[in-house]
Amino acid sequence: MNFALTPEQEALKKSFGDFFREEMKNAPPEWGTSMEAMFGIDVCWEFHKRMAKKLAARGWLSRPWPREYGGEDAPLIEQFLFSEVMGYYRGAGVDPWGISMLAPTLLVSANEEQKKEHLPYIARAERFWTQLWSEPEAGSDLASLKTRAVRSGDEYIVNGQKTWTSGAHRADWGFLLARTDPDQKRSRGISFFLVDMKTPGITIKPILSLEGSHLFNEVFLDDVRIPARNMVGEENQGWLASQMTSNFERSMIMIFSFLQHELEEIVQFCKETRRGNRTLAEDPIIRNRLAQMAIEIEVGRAFSYSVVWNQIKGGIIAAGHLAAAAKVLATELNQRMSYTGSQIIGMYGQVKESKWAPMQGKYEKEYQQCVSLNMGGGTSEIMRNLVCSLGLGLPRSW
Ligand SMILES: Cc1cc2nc3c(=O)[nH]c(=O)nc-3n(C[C@H](O)[C@H](O)[C@H](O)COP(=O)(O)OP(=O)(O)OC[C@H]3O[C@@H](n4cnc5c(N)ncnc54)[C@H](O)[C@@H]3O)c2cc1C
Repeated sequence: MNFALTPEQEALKKSFGDFFREEMKNAPPEWGTSMEAMFGIDVCWEFHKRMAKKLAARGWLSRPWPREYGGEDAPLIEQFLFSEVMGYYRGAGVDPWGISMLAPTLLVSANEEQKKEHLPYIARAERFWTQLWSEPEAGSDLASLKTRAVRSGDEYIVNGQKTWTSGAHRADWGFLLARTDPDQKRSRGISFFLVDMKTPGITIKPILSLEGSHLFNEVFLDDVRIPARNMVGEENQGWLASQMTSNFERSMIMIFSFLQHELEEIVQFCKETRRGNRTLAEDPIIRNRLAQMAIEIEVGRAFSYSVVWNQIKGGIIAAGHLAAAAKVLATELNQRMSYTGSQIIGMYGQVKESKWAPMQGKYEKEYQQCVSLNMGGGTSEIMRNLVCSLGLGLPRSW
């Protein structure tokens, strides 16, 4: 297999790398690696927004979009290279909801008016988004959601409760799934709306994580009036649009390249740190674990390349089972890397924000946060179900 890039792609990758290497030097120390810091800590959120503006000024938030909506029609592979570089430098500035989920959905499912109303704001980093899907009784089984939207003239009146809504407290707008026809079964009868988060009737309450960060929220919708023109796609057909959202670019390259950087850092730490009469790098058990991580990261990276290759050849939907497999591989590997790093660092790895905390206490945070990636965007069990049904041709289990 030939992984070589063209000279143009190499040059592009270098320009992404030059940018993130320089700009991420200005990241607040709390930036870390997670959405928890981005949405939870004011200085991190401000930094993220400043970075978003810089990316927007270069046109890098919207490169894969068609030119008519402010993009450059850039091929998927170039977007993939951007994600790879951004992951390596733990880059800031890409709205995980507006850029990575909503914009691709609007491009496929929205009408002209909606595209013109929202895409330019997203491309210029002037509007940040949140995803209003999960409910207390509807997570993996999203089609059982109960939030109701009832048509009243030119508006829908929405009542319900959403939960685990990442970054709702920072967002300007949200994309919402609500039931418009309770008589239709499950995914039929659901519609997809765009809602200004300042609309009267929306109440946002924080859900703090056990480790204290503020990523999640509960969002209560009480008689929230959404203009009918903010419905994406047909009434009762919102499920289709939501599937476009969740199917877009899931090669997970960002996580694998981020893990590559983690590995390089912990290897350096092991070379520099003595325990007893030798460095950690000379400890056979540690060497064994680092080698295992190096192997798995390389496998993951190669798998990511094959996912994007299949997406390019057969389309995003056709490669759905590969994307699901990549998510399992990446998020579970991320978990193993966090455990490995914590074990190598040892007891001091539990120390938070202190001169005694090795590697600025990053593994204290990562150890606690690493389980969440396996759940967000669909749990590992659900992803494995998709591999079975879409990839292996086994019967659906739900
Ligand atoms: C970091 C993070 C960010 C998130 N951000 C958002 C957000 O911004 N907006 C939003 O709407 N939601 C968000 N979520 C919610 C996320 O989508 C749900 O947590 C996820 O879909 C799982 O739903 P649940 O938590 O209700 O668990 P459940 O669906 O109740 O699942 C509980 C357990 O049962 C297993 N399970 C369920 N059904 C099956 C099945 N058919 N086969 C096998 N096992 C099964 C699951 O894998 C899981 O282990 C986020 C979650 C996380 C962790």
